[in-house]
Amino acid sequence: MSVGVLALQGDFREHAALLRGLGAEVELVRRPEELDRVNGLVIPGGESSVMDKLARAFGLAEPLRTRIQAGLPVYGTCAGLIMLADTVLDAIRGQESLGGLDIAVRRNAFGSQTASFETDLDVPVLGADPVHAVFIRAPVVETVGPRATALASLADGRCVAVEQGNLLGTSFHPEITGEHRFHEYFLATVTRAGFRG
Ligand code: GLN
Repeated sequence: MSVGVLALQGDFREHAALLRGLGAEVELVRRPEELDRVNGLVIPGGESSVMDKLARAFGLAEPLRTRIQAGLPVYGTCAGLIMLADTVLDAIRGQESLGGLDIAVRRNAFGSQTASFETDLDVPVLGADPVHAVFIRAPVVETVGPRATALASLADGRCVAVEQGNLLGTSFHPEITGEHRFHEYFLATVTRAGFRG
């Protein structure tokens, strides 16, 4: 099994290091032909509007959409979650997502005062220990459609982690806090799905 990390922009190195630490074979993905070799993909945090432009410029957006529709397991953090959302609120003009998750996310949902913050979250699918979550100019999942499932919410009820089939998304960044359970959970999905491009 080989796991790709979309390496156009953002904190792809942190994801690659974490996945390698868990024993995964990791491939950085920048070209369409590199997608053919991976059984799952992580889309990192960064800036979704830039990632969108680069994905289109590098000819990755359409092959990615096709694979997501066909069941490619994908885990998106922060900007990566925005890329996976069917609907993006407060997008810049012309910004497109890849889609796949039946959710509406709002970019930069926390005002400038609290643009970045940390908190502990209950994530029942990962066990009893809370997840220490770091939010950096993070999106929030405003609407969870019937095909998606919320995995974690803030104390005020706003959803910040979702899954749908082989897709997983978090508003926050487990890759920078030493939290590896989301990546383990995702690797289990990759193994179970056995996706071939
Ligand atoms: N605000 C960024 C965006 O809209 C996301 C920030 C992040 O990935 N940490 O893409």
